[in-house]
Amino acid sequence: MMTNLLDFDLNGLIAFCEQLGEKAFRAKQLFRWIHQRGASDFDAMSDLAIALRTKLKGCAHIQGLPVISEHISSDGTIKWLFDVGDGNAVESVFIPEDDRGTLCVSSQAGCAVGCRFCSTGHQGFSRNLTTGEILAQLWFAEHTLRKRFASSDRIISNVVMMGMGEPLQNYAALVPALRAMLDDHGYGLSRRRVTVSTSGVVPMMDRLALDCPVALAVSLHAPSDPLRDNLVPLNRKYPLKELLDACRRYLDHAPRDFITFEYCMLDGVNDQVEHARELIALVKPPKGEAVRCKFNLIPFNPFPASGLTRSKQAQVLAFAQELSDAGIVTTVRKTRGDDIDAACGQLAGDVKDRTRASERMAKQRTVMLKPVT
Ligand code: SAH
Ligand code: SF4
Repeated sequence: MMTNLLDFDLNGLIAFCEQLGEKAFRAKQLFRWIHQRGASDFDAMSDLAIALRTKLKGCAHIQGLPVISEHISSDGTIKWLFDVGDGNAVESVFIPEDDRGTLCVSSQAGCAVGCRFCSTGHQGFSRNLTTGEILAQLWFAEHTLRKRFASSDRIISNVVMMGMGEPLQNYAALVPALRAMLDDHGYGLSRRRVTVSTSGVVPMMDRLALDCPVALAVSLHAPSDPLRDNLVPLNRKYPLKELLDACRRYLDHAPRDFITFEYCMLDGVNDQVEHARELIALVKPPKGEAVRCKFNLIPFNPFPASGLTRSKQAQVLAFAQELSDAGIVTTVRKTRGDDIDAACGQLAGDVKDRTRASERMAKQRTVMLKPVT
């Protein structure tokens, strides 16, 4: 059995190297070759002794994910579809902005939460990604883009776990991947530039606060339990009061941080000014502790099976105004990559669709990529 070195955070790699009789600093060198330099060939690792390289070749590899397709949007957003085997595919999206480059990463093939407004949710759950499969998305994107832009500088400055899947339902694989993102020998991203987005897996929010307190986004979508039960079925297990208490506990570990509440604006469902007022009462209760938070209103990206439609722009603005007037910082998310179905919640992959995946793979060999300028 070959071990995929992408499956390890630095401590994991140190332990693996120790089993081979190698010192910790060798593991650090190896980790830097993999994540900082994008190496996949041990022979390229010129400062590792030939004996070690030979040993590694016998038992390990650095195995990325096969790319099924790449789509480049007119706004510069790039979406990749990766093959994770058995007809499953996951997507990652690179979003360039003036002052940052954000990669949106998937944590599962499909998702078991089944939110009504989410196309990943509608396709059901296939399986958890491994740490290596989560990290492979970043490893591939970072080093592909560096080559393409002929840059030796870092391209991806921010990672958001907002692709397919519920990251906190894949906790064991998630945490080492986050650690590799934060590690100075890995991607060196600051804690605040890595965001885990969750539909509200309360016990795992508590664990994340202890294990790896990165920025937290919570997908709220409704101000009351009956409505949220309907939109985000996980609410039946962890209702709003418990969720908000978990947010407060999370912030206790990160005193200067705030929670980003994501709120998908659904026409006539959760977008009335009255809902905004209920939200204010929820996060700034007249008696009790306010939750330090910002709101990010996401225009719903419609897909036919949802039976839902996007809120009118005027409604979104009125809603945002109500929250702002209550002193809550509120942003309305720009939709990016709309023309390539890379916008939030549209990441559907091609789960359980072998034919299409292989057709696309065949196509990919002939497709000429449009250069990014
Ligand atoms: N499972 C996690 C992270 C992935 S979803 C979560 O739910 O937070 C990332 C964000 O996209 C979430 O806030 C989710 O609610 C939102 N989203 C899902 N489907 C959407 C859609 N069709 N339109 C707009 N946002 C959507
Ligand atoms: Fe899963 Fe998030 Fe989609 Fe809900 S919104 S189904 S939790 S991916």
